[in-house]
Amino acid sequence: MATLPASEPAWLAGLNPAQREAALTTEGPLLVLAGAGTGKTSALTARLAVILGQRRAWPSEILAVTFTNKAAREMRDRLAAMIGAEAEGMPWLGTFHATAARMLRRHAELVGLTPGFTIIDPDDVERLLKRLIGEAGLDERRWQARHLAALVDRWKNRGWSPDDVPPGESFAFANGRGAALYAAYQQALRALNTADFGDLLLHMLTILRSHPDVLSGWQRRLRYVLVDEYQDTNAAQNAWLRLLAAPAHGGHGNICCVGDDDQSIYSWRGADVGNILSFETDFPGARVIRLEQNYRSTQHILSAAGGVIARNGARLGKTLWTQAGDGEKVEVIGVWDGPEEARLVGERIAGLLAGGAPADSIAILVRAQFQTREFEDRFIATGLPYRVLAGMRFYERAEIRDLIAYLRLVQQGDDALAFERILNRPKRGLGDRALERIIRHARQTGTTLPQAAQALTETDELAPQARRSLARLLADLRRWRAAAPKLAPAALLELVLAESGYLAMLEADRAPESQGRIENLRELGRAMEDWPDLTAFLDHVALVMDNERDTESPKVTLMTLHASKGLEFDHVFLPGWEEGLFPSQRALDEGGAAALEEERRLAYVGITRARRTAAILHAANRRIYGQWTSAIPSRFIAELPPEHVAQHTTMTGGASLWRAAVFAPDAPFADAGRAAGRGAGWQRAARHGVQRPATIEARATATTIGAMPRGDLGVGDRVFHQKFGTGTITAQHANRLEVAFDHAGTKMVLDSFVTAV
Ligand code: ATP
Ligand code: MG
Repeated sequence: MATLPASEPAWLAGLNPAQREAALTTEGPLLVLAGAGTGKTSALTARLAVILGQRRAWPSEILAVTFTNKAAREMRDRLAAMIGAEAEGMPWLGTFHATAARMLRRHAELVGLTPGFTIIDPDDVERLLKRLIGEAGLDERRWQARHLAALVDRWKNRGWSPDDVPPGESFAFANGRGAALYAAYQQALRALNTADFGDLLLHMLTILRSHPDVLSGWQRRLRYVLVDEYQDTNAAQNAWLRLLAAPAHGGHGNICCVGDDDQSIYSWRGADVGNILSFETDFPGARVIRLEQNYRSTQHILSAAGGVIARNGARLGKTLWTQAGDGEKVEVIGVWDGPEEARLVGERIAGLLAGGAPADSIAILVRAQFQTREFEDRFIATGLPYRVLAGMRFYERAEIRDLIAYLRLVQQGDDALAFERILNRPKRGLGDRALERIIRHARQTGTTLPQAAQALTETDELAPQARRSLARLLADLRRWRAAAPKLAPAALLELVLAESGYLAMLEADRAPESQGRIENLRELGRAMEDWPDLTAFLDHVALVMDNERDTESPKVTLMTLHASKGLEFDHVFLPGWEEGLFPSQRALDEGGAAALEEERRLAYVGITRARRTAAILHAANRRIYGQWTSAIPSRFIAELPPEHVAQHTTMTGGASLWRAAVFAPDAPFADAGRAAGRGAGWQRAARHGVQRPATIEARATATTIGAMPRGDLGVGDRVFHQKFGTGTITAQHANRLEVAFDHAGTKMVLDSFVTAV
């Protein structure tokens, strides 16, 4: 056996004894079970370097599974920094999907595919399922393709082929025909020589189970198996790992999994934390190493997170300590409403940047995607560099772009791109064929698409049904255009959402993400309320979209809690800790007490991303469709140990009462067992405390707080704007200016986008 050089490399010498053991115990099964920031990923990477450095295996003989492609890249980089060129060419370092796909290419014919099989995208999956549902004589409106797609995905995550689906599960669709449809779907995929995401693993499972020669080939080939974020593996992934490495299947048993049961946050995607619990059964003689020193966070941050997660029932339990010192207490900040929350976080970040903190050492972690909007708008307005990670920027999401396209058409009837985008969204029988005809007609006659469309409603070129549908769309657009000047922008949005059938389309959709889309559209309504008219709003959107050119310089990160797993930042902001938003009411409605525990794990993940400071925010009021709704602080706030928390509120008046309510020992959510209800005492305190009814006055205050004007500009001043050129200010509303531009007409712009000339 080769050994490492006599003088140990710095990366190995720098590990603590437990990490060292994890890195150097290369033979036999090993489970590293440890809390956040204890250096699990670091130890796993060191172990990889040891295996390669000791020449126990070639790079092509190690399977190393990471949670995201980004994590795989990082591991590769760190490895290169440790051992240099040895690290190159690790074909089996990547996510479950990526590595399984690569394997499947070599055996495709064993499941009826050719090596060049394609991977089908989710839109095509739905189309295919829809056809199959129709062919089975079922009503496609009642039995929706999206619902079946979600079920099939769930079954695949469990490692079930159509024959394995238990009758009870099959009954989840079309009175028990679920499994038969699943079988027909698999047949159809094969005929198309294509596989969906779930198939990548499932097919490999099938092959390894039914072809002992293939299995033993891979067992010999992949001599070491390493898995990060093991707590979030699903049944299919775990079965695949067992086949490749477990002695019961003839494997070598050289498998090392690292994870933290307290960070299991993907059960909604089929992840099963039970995999950690059964590791010692699956791999007899497994060693379990616990890491206890946290290298990431200060004591206050660790203890605050520890206090919250301690409320969970089903835990393996871990000790965590740090040498980083007490540091600053976790802040809990109460604000009046969402705009103030965004303003406050923006100001804090500006202060950190001014103090020399790099922008990329700061993150804002949200529970729901739509929450990024308020921050994005604020950051655009103040010129703060930001990016949205592992998710889309608000205005780039499909549903938002669809509605923006509708609105652009209302504003400006000749917008060809917008017209093309919404023509068949929702579906109204104007598919590709109709679009082709319209485009051809536009070309032949030299008119715009909407004009050509109008012309085609008066000829018989289109099928009668398509013609009627087109005429109706054009009439809708005309009607909305006529109504627009009399309506506030948000009301116009509501009208379009309702009359176009777009909202109904999402509401009828049972796919898990459609609810999030509806939330995003509601948030769009809230965004529009900040603008006096549609033109001003659409100009703003154009500028937001323009803003994302520079990809080089460091940026503040906005992302969901789910996507933040495994990452760390010096400064973390956690906004929106309010009942209903976090914990998410939707998750609780669907999953009950188990879901509450998962939400709590998310809180734990969020706080433990912070190295130096963590600030939790909650607003007393949220605005939904122009209505102010009182919000109750998240029960997780009451679970934070008071000695590790510093509370502030930017509100006056009822704040002290509010504080008493949150931190009182008998606060309604202090007891984790009382998961479901909202205590009456809580609501009483809320009513008499900060939850003042929203008055016109309150609204006015909130708006002013949310948007401080620049002091150096006034009506009559000449200004320059990058997009619209020079002009004269004709009116000023908070941080928005009405400017009569010399060549671009009168527009509403944000004052941070102009310079005085
Ligand atoms: P998570 O649970 O969030 O995935 P983790 O357990 O994987 O965290 P790492 O990301 O590996 O933890 O490490 C957390 C931080 O601690 C990193 O900044 C890492 O560089 C640092 N670190 C890890 N081990 C040591 C060590 N022995 N000495 C000093 N710093 C360390
Ligand atoms: Mg990690």
